[in-house]
Amino acid sequence: MVSLKKHYLVKFNYDLCKACGICYTVCPTQAIRKGKGNAPVIADEKACIGCKQCERLCPDFAIDIIEKEGEDDHV
Ligand code: SF4
Ligand code: SF4
Repeated sequence: MVSLKKHYLVKFNYDLCKACGICYTVCPTQAIRKGKGNAPVIADEKACIGCKQCERLCPDFAIDIIEKEGEDDHV
């Protein structure tokens, strides 16, 4: 059976990010976390479930969650 687990790319636009901390505070899986200067960093991209809470709640539109199409689950 083919794995249907979806994968997501988490992309930050640090030119727009104001390091407010909302994104990693709302992330339910700790896929992203606080980094240097309170800016977000990716902690575990594989943990991202694509809920897009971070993307929706970022006041500066600095996050894009991109679904990776048709990829197998590389272990
Ligand atoms: S919510 Fe947006 S502006 Fe705030 S830290 Fe995250 S990426 Fe930066
Ligand atoms: S889409 Fe959801 S799981 Fe993925 S980084 Fe954003 S808040 Fe976390």
